[in-house]
Amino acid sequence: MSSEITRIHTGAPENLQERFAHRAQFMQPSEIRALFAVASRPEIVSLAGGMPNLTALPMDMMQNVVSELIKTNGMEALQYGSGQGHPKLREQICDVMELEGIKAHPEDIIVTTGSQQALDLISRIFIDPGDVVLVEAPSYVGALGTFHQYEASVVHVELDDNGLIPDRLREAIAQTRLSGRKIKFLYLIPNYQNPTGVLLSAERRSEILEICREERIFVVEDNPYGLLGFDKPSPNAMRAEDSENVIYLGSFSKTICPGFRVGWALVPQSLKEKLVIASESSQLCPSNFAQLAISSYLADQPWRDQISSFCKLYKVRRDAMLTAMDKYFPKEATWTKPEGGFYVWATLPAEIDAKALMPKAIVAKVAYVPGTAFYADGFGSWSMRLSYCYPTPERITEGIKSLGGVIQKEMDRRSIGN
Ligand code: PMP
Repeated sequence: MSSEITRIHTGAPENLQERFAHRAQFMQPSEIRALFAVASRPEIVSLAGGMPNLTALPMDMMQNVVSELIKTNGMEALQYGSGQGHPKLREQICDVMELEGIKAHPEDIIVTTGSQQALDLISRIFIDPGDVVLVEAPSYVGALGTFHQYEASVVHVELDDNGLIPDRLREAIAQTRLSGRKIKFLYLIPNYQNPTGVLLSAERRSEILEICREERIFVVEDNPYGLLGFDKPSPNAMRAEDSENVIYLGSFSKTICPGFRVGWALVPQSLKEKLVIASESSQLCPSNFAQLAISSYLADQPWRDQISSFCKLYKVRRDAMLTAMDKYFPKEATWTKPEGGFYVWATLPAEIDAKALMPKAIVAKVAYVPGTAFYADGFGSWSMRLSYCYPTPERITEGIKSLGGVIQKEMDRRSIGN
């Protein structure tokens, strides 16, 4: 048989736009996806992707977990399962969340295919076209894409080094209400935020919860990085303080690995039924195989030590990046100093457009994500997200050196032009 697959064309390619549903026009590739093809070339130091670094995960141990699972419980692992998620895993998830102060009941957990799916299900339940979702400025590109598909109107709320600013939140709520639009929820990432790396202070957590309770706005707390604090644990999760108004999203993607695609939502009781129905219509049930693999891993392996190993690995890389930025970035630039997670957010002098600079960076063999990807409104053009999670410390230093040079050259070119 020929290894080449022949596609049979029966005429000119058809423009399908008019045959698509209205909502399909809101399905656009993310800026990050478009970048990946270039950034994944081996000669490029990619500071673009947010891929967990699995070099710290012992593969022989994972192999044992998976093969033991098939050997001892294959009939269940390879079968359909519960739409809400496997009961044993839901109990174990409660133990994991206890590390961040959450006391939860397994009945209030819905296991999802990554927390990304939970974002989609929540959006499906809450958002009508034109409804407002409040998000940090900037915010996670994958969440923005989902909100966009459901035709939400995204309103950004400013953050600083201590996370979302409560006064700005009050203003955004007041202005949105004045315009007569409905606010469906506040979406935020309190720990080592994607894309800025900032940590929301404990005081602000309480204040934001109070504002949202008073204003009857649900809080969607997205927390994939919470256990990846380098020197001290992150403050308690917002859900630990408010079980009625917070929809909490968790994920094993960064604390174990993303390949199993296991995440979860912990929701107020009143929302559970809707979320289970939404999940069932999307996928019948999350993968039993993936859930039971995670469950065996949590039951039999030293998962807390594994998280510490990840933290050590990321901390070394964070240090390499910050040290290199101090040395090679122009003094006019500023950047965040993350205490955990994967990302640094750099802000260049205002006249430098990070997106326009990208081709020059690629020539210098370094890639990043331009700041505009993290805004729904075209803002952020003089910012960039730099991920330190994946390359080696040496490569990070090399990449930052090249990037610092590209930025400096651009600044010099502009000052000569003036
Ligand atoms: N939320 C945030 C803030 C993320 O950074 C990511 C992945 N990068 C996700 C959700 C989705 O994670 P997953 O679907 O792998 O759980």
